[in-house]
Amino acid sequence: MVVKINENYLKLKSSYLFVEVARREAEFTKANPDADVIKMGIGDVTKPLVPAVIDAFRKAVDEMADGETFMGYGPEQGYDFLAEAIIKNDYNKYGVDLDTSEVFISDGAKCDTGNIQEIFGIDNKIAVTDPVYTVYVDTNVMAGRTGEMGDDGMYEGLTYLKCNAENGFIPELPSEPVDIIYLCYPNNPTGTTLTKDQLKVFVEYARENKAIILFDAAYEVFINEDDVPHSIYEIEGAKEVAIEFRSFSKTAGFTGTRCAYTVVPKELKGYDSEGNEVEINPLWNRRQTTKFNGASYPVQRAAEATYSPEGRKQILEVVDYYMANAKIIRESLTDIGLEVYGGVSSPYIWVKTPNDMDSWDFFDVLLNEANVIGTPGSGFGPSGEGYLRLTAFNTLENTKEAMDRISKLEF
Ligand SMILES: *Cc1c(COP(=O)(O)O)cnc(C)c1O
Repeated sequence: MVVKINENYLKLKSSYLFVEVARREAEFTKANPDADVIKMGIGDVTKPLVPAVIDAFRKAVDEMADGETFMGYGPEQGYDFLAEAIIKNDYNKYGVDLDTSEVFISDGAKCDTGNIQEIFGIDNKIAVTDPVYTVYVDTNVMAGRTGEMGDDGMYEGLTYLKCNAENGFIPELPSEPVDIIYLCYPNNPTGTTLTKDQLKVFVEYARENKAIILFDAAYEVFINEDDVPHSIYEIEGAKEVAIEFRSFSKTAGFTGTRCAYTVVPKELKGYDSEGNEVEINPLWNRRQTTKFNGASYPVQRAAEATYSPEGRKQILEVVDYYMANAKIIRESLTDIGLEVYGGVSSPYIWVKTPNDMDSWDFFDVLLNEANVIGTPGSGFGPSGEGYLRLTAFNTLENTKEAMDRISKLEF
């Protein structure tokens, strides 16, 4: 007997992207040690936690130091004080009612969007947008819901919903029946959004086909357009067909602090093999209570502080700072004749490569001639070929400098 591995892991192909970016950067820096390289590739925030969050965080740490106020294990689903603040500020404000038992607080939306597939059967047909946040794809590959990746860069058995300039980055409904659809809006990597009417098409599809939408709204705080919904539950009937993921990572700079939440409405149903309706909420509750022991108490207090009046004001100032960068990137690149998308309700700008250059060639031009690092769009899926992602998570000075340098290039 020998130990057998999960061979689905051997099908995975995509860690290549950021490894290759780092390799090319290292090679360039070695050859050009004095170059001032500006990194606009990373999807990580750069500003520190705001004072209101730090104050609440510190206060909670002090509570942990005192026998009277010390907290041990909390509820696996998170504390009610945070769930209540979430419901009031993120949902009631948009006319959505939720119960605290429908909100599952966690240490990240990456793990939640990755773990959620566990509660669904292996035979479900999965659809993702292309390009895509690769977590959705890779976790389904690991679970065995796909075959191998083909030469076209697509995993066999997965449905890819193309998003590119030709369709205005609005995915078409799947042409073959699917059971689970991952949507991320505002989108990473393209920075584009769906309006209420455009999202409604998917909600209606899910209702008609007894499918479920896994809606990742990690970038909700960046929404600047009136007709873009802040939650999928703003669409009528969505509670019956959608799970929503949110995170404090980009909202409030929690990428290193770790706090997120997932909403699983009581109305949401799946089906057993005999076709009987089964509530999804207790399944996720069971999964979390079995495999997860809750986000830390000080972190949940820190997250709660993002909803206080001063906390809110402070985090929105940081968001505005990033969005001013996004505007500079959009305008500078548009001025030199490049086609750009996103960056209005998102910190990501999706740039069409000039002269039909491929993503990696454009990456090399920016690195070698402007010393600016982006992320090649092709790394996010086959439809990302011919695009490059830039992020606004940088200083204003670096953003301006990078745009000055790019503006001097000839394409
Ligand atoms: C950054 C990001 C998240 C947040 O993940 P965390 O684990 O909460 O830090 C979720 N979804 C997408 C698409 C992201 O880009």
